[in-house]
Amino acid sequence: MKVLVPVKRVVDYNVKIRVKPDGSGVDLANVKMAMNPFDEIAVEEAIRLKEKAKVSEIVAVSIGPQQAQETLRTALAMGADRGILVRTDAPVEPLAVAKLLRALVDKEQPQLVILGKQAIDDDANQTGQMLAALLGWPQGTFAYRIELGEGSLEVTREIDGGLQTLTLALPAIVTTDLRLNEPRYASLPNIMKAKKKPLDTLEPAALGVDVAPRLKVLKTVEPGGRQAGVKVASAAELVSKLKGEAGVL
Ligand code: AMP
Repeated sequence: MKVLVPVKRVVDYNVKIRVKPDGSGVDLANVKMAMNPFDEIAVEEAIRLKEKAKVSEIVAVSIGPQQAQETLRTALAMGADRGILVRTDAPVEPLAVAKLLRALVDKEQPQLVILGKQAIDDDANQTGQMLAALLGWPQGTFAYRIELGEGSLEVTREIDGGLQTLTLALPAIVTTDLRLNEPRYASLPNIMKAKKKPLDTLEPAALGVDVAPRLKVLKTVEPGGRQAGVKVASAAELVSKLKGEAGVL
């Protein structure tokens, strides 16, 4: 059984984001990039299924600029078997990503697609759901635990205030949540081996998908700074401030 794992190249989560002076977006010049953390969890889960002999091939896919090859190499070094880069320099919105992934699903015929629940750059949390809708496949989002059976998949999901367990008929879509697993680091020998693993590159047009944006960013702003705190002399003053100034009582 084949698993497809989409991995996005995003700004490393340790980087302090700077907004461009004209507010048109985030400054990406000389910024460290890395695999989206939820996608590392997706790659790890696919590898664990392969280690249990439930999966025979893991195909990692990235949609982005030429440098997204590095993200694919990271997935290959962790344990994916093959990479596909859909190369585009334009920013690609979740709907376009979902359409490209649908075209790749038609080509590759995986039984399972494991995505991150969200990319930490756009925080959209849309691609997995859109892909499930385009394919007409069942989806288990915010996965906390997955168990692969014969022709079906049990997904325990993180929901408000608890966990929910679903059974999905395969083929299916899963999106990963933070507690699904702890991704491994690639060892040096595996990083070397990954350089020899197959990595194909294609253009969006070859998949028949128009990636023209449908959304326009009007403005990007930094979060407002925190205001300085004040000291109060008594509990009565605190209550009066909470009532009068903060309006929370
Ligand atoms: P989003 O809907 O943008 O928050 O992204 C959710 C998930 O979709 C990510 O965690 C990835 O698994 C996948 N994804 C989104 N954009 C891309 C991309 N450009 N290349 C590969 N995978 C992507």
